[in-house]
Amino acid sequence: MSNSLVLVINSGSSSLKFALIDTVSGEATLSGLGECFGMPEAVVSWKIDGEKHEHALDAEGNHHQQAVDRIVVLLEELGMKQDIVAIGHRVVHGGEKFTKTVKIDESVLEEIDSLSDLAPLHNPAHVIGMRAAMAAFPSLSQYAVFDTAFHQTMPAKAYTGAISQKLYTDYGIRRYGFHGTSHYYVSREAAKVVNKPVEESNFISVHLGNGASVCAIKNGKSVDTSMGFTPLAGLMMGTRCGDLDPSIIEFLLKKGWSQQEVFDELNKKSGLLGVSGLTSDCRGIIEAMENGHEGATLAFELFCYRVAKYIGSYMVALDELDAIIFTAGIGENSLPIRSKILENLKIFGYREDEEGNAAARFGNAGVITKPNTPVAMVIPTNEEWVIAKESMELLHA
Ligand code: AMP
Repeated sequence: MSNSLVLVINSGSSSLKFALIDTVSGEATLSGLGECFGMPEAVVSWKIDGEKHEHALDAEGNHHQQAVDRIVVLLEELGMKQDIVAIGHRVVHGGEKFTKTVKIDESVLEEIDSLSDLAPLHNPAHVIGMRAAMAAFPSLSQYAVFDTAFHQTMPAKAYTGAISQKLYTDYGIRRYGFHGTSHYYVSREAAKVVNKPVEESNFISVHLGNGASVCAIKNGKSVDTSMGFTPLAGLMMGTRCGDLDPSIIEFLLKKGWSQQEVFDELNKKSGLLGVSGLTSDCRGIIEAMENGHEGATLAFELFCYRVAKYIGSYMVALDELDAIIFTAGIGENSLPIRSKILENLKIFGYREDEEGNAAARFGNAGVITKPNTPVAMVIPTNEEWVIAKESMELLHA
């Protein structure tokens, strides 16, 4: 094995995902997950040759550090540790400060931590994960790759809220956008499919997973995106409400709901779950809909209508459009969701190619619209690959 491996770490408040990416082949040599941090059942698990392995963490102590230390032992056992040349960390919020990937040092750690106000569930957890990785791999360079960075090219008219500018200058309230590494990756891959330089390509990228967002990409750059100040805005998601009249929050507070209850309702009990009253999982929604479940049918209709409305509105952000790109768990796999969204876009001339739609699933890319009609395609996303590649490029810069 050559010195081409980058360890990618995505550290959350109670979990830590990791993947070892070979930056030559693009393959994930190993991947795993630490979860239930802060609880007695904290565990790290990984798969080798399809077989799952688990290691229980000590109930006491710092689970992020324990998880990273166990990953180090695992890499030593597998004889891979010496081939790792860099570590790339996913960071949800880089504010306006970080417009590209950076090497992590103490001042970068402090900056990321200082943005915790904007991403209280994510940024503090990233810093804990970074410190644990720096302690475990003291000789390796570590890099931070930001979900927000790709969207820093948005013009003021796209990122400014229609509110007093004092709220922006005093608190940084504006649209930041998320899923940037995913929108970046699929637009680069889509440019190859339409056979144009990415700097001359225009796309509407539709990331539909548990979190969901749309991004208008003009000449390879993000010019608008549906997530906002936080990842709650925009599309309806698995458990998040997306766009909502802000007065509803005041209304619920006056009805005696606590701030936390309102926050939990909109983040954890809304979206597909809230509307269906059943599940946040798209597969469960489709299955229940096929069995005639009313809530699931409404959730499906609402989801597809709202995605199509966003795509329609983002036509305004572009002068021309090479393709709509579908990606992430739902976008890459759900045939009925893509089919319904295209049907909702018929005024723009989109016509589903049923064979193409059926073929582009389970990791397969492909065009899903008929020849000589506007193009929609599926591109499987690969955020870990972007994190690994950017880390490697900076290492050699
Ligand atoms: P992600 O957040 O990208 O992992 O996506 C999670 C979402 O993808 C969940 O709503 C899943 O139900 C959905 N998903 C994953 N696989 C499939 C599939 N084969 N068909 C439909 N939806 C899927």
